[in-house]
Amino acid sequence: MKVLSNLYLWVNDRFTAEPQSLLEEKGIIIEQLPYPVPEQYKQLYQQDFAGAYAYPGFIDTHTHSFEGGLYSLGVDLSIAKNIAEVLELLSAENAKKTKDEIIFAWQLDETSLIEKRFPTVPELDSAVPDKPLLLRRIDGHSCMLNSFARKRIEDLDTDREILRGAENDKAVHYFHSCLTDDRILEAYQVSAKLGLQAGFCSLHTMIGNAQNSITHYELIRDNLDQFPLRFILYPQSFNIKAALNAGAKRIGGCILADGSIGSETAAVAEPYLNSTSRGVLYQSDEFWQQFINEASKHNLQVAVHCIGDRAIRQINNVYKAIPATEELRHELIHCELTDDALIQEIAISKAVPVMQPNFDLLWGGENGFYAKKLGIKRSRIMNRFATLLKAGITITGGSDWYVTPLNAAQSIKAAINHHNPQEGLTIAQAIDIYTKNAAWLNFEEHCAGQIKPSYVADLSIYSQPVEKETSQLCYVVRKGEIKYAAQ
Ligand SMILES: [Zn+2]
Ligand SMILES: [Zn+2]
Repeated sequence: MKVLSNLYLWVNDRFTAEPQSLLEEKGIIIEQLPYPVPEQYKQLYQQDFAGAYAYPGFIDTHTHSFEGGLYSLGVDLSIAKNIAEVLELLSAENAKKTKDEIIFAWQLDETSLIEKRFPTVPELDSAVPDKPLLLRRIDGHSCMLNSFARKRIEDLDTDREILRGAENDKAVHYFHSCLTDDRILEAYQVSAKLGLQAGFCSLHTMIGNAQNSITHYELIRDNLDQFPLRFILYPQSFNIKAALNAGAKRIGGCILADGSIGSETAAVAEPYLNSTSRGVLYQSDEFWQQFINEASKHNLQVAVHCIGDRAIRQINNVYKAIPATEELRHELIHCELTDDALIQEIAISKAVPVMQPNFDLLWGGENGFYAKKLGIKRSRIMNRFATLLKAGITITGGSDWYVTPLNAAQSIKAAINHHNPQEGLTIAQAIDIYTKNAAWLNFEEHCAGQIKPSYVADLSIYSQPVEKETSQLCYVVRKGEIKYAAQ
């Protein structure tokens, strides 16, 4: 038993007026005490947090932590301003690697390069001639390979230099599946460390190729105790049998109803600007009915990636038709473009939008990327956090890391400071989507997501409330133990 003392505590939607203490035993909060502690507790070990601000441990409800960890060890192309800089970064990495080591590069956003284009394959070959190179676009929905990598994948049946859809998946998963168990575990160790540095106690994470394989799900399931933060696993595939065999209570993640707005594959009801394309529905209604019904029959919580209104409606219609949606808390991952009518339909289905405030931060606003792709009018009905909550729908927050940065404070601030003021959350609502609501999504509302007796002693501790400019992460406490302390 010990005392975590001298902390302002986030309780009932606000900080306590005075610093408090928490009595903790075996990772569980026993009691909230004043600070200084009453006489009878003074003989217990006390950890003094010097009047810092403690939230319930933040939970990111949607990450791709494997890719995030793996690529963090690779080349980050977000800093490149033009093609020459992309090639320089790749070339530098090439020089560091031994022959046959795969080079992973990520965060390429061709729209922010001066040339406004992807590099060509000959350009990639000039930088990385004799090792496999996988280069992913920032949204993960397109990728490129150099010629050396291309030759490795026998059944890649296309001349297209930029791979999208099924070809993108095939290339990515081919190179992911070449990794040893040690390299996979290393990737998760890196993401656990980055998660703590980002202020999180728990990360929901997707494992699987989004087709029929749950890849290394069992490896991570069997090693969960090794990691300093908590991973909550999603077998990201269509393989219900594999999920059940692995003991999973859910299935899915970014199994795709549609693609992304960046790749113009998100399925929208009206065409993209300056285009006749309405994006792509990757599966038929019948396919989803069959899959979601079957998964529900086995009491699996279902999570499906849907970004455009046409895709959200397709999945929500299936959810709406089955009572299991409310009971199993089926998820609409991203749920970006929703008009008022669609929001009413989601309120009826009782599905849970798992949303990304960083999407609005990065791509929202009248001059933003979404407005350029879809027009200003539609950009105003995207990422509608406040309206969804107002309609009685529970939403949760996630980063979709590696797609956007992993950073609790940044995400919470993005939810508060939405480009569209009507969709911005109050501070308390923004905290909820990373704590209370996130715990609820994992059926743990009785034991996590709040600072309360009998709840897990997970805390994200900052120097000031997170919305303050000067606020800094000080500690992350997981089950009563400090797992991260700022230097
Ligand atoms: Zn995702
Ligand atoms: Zn997704």
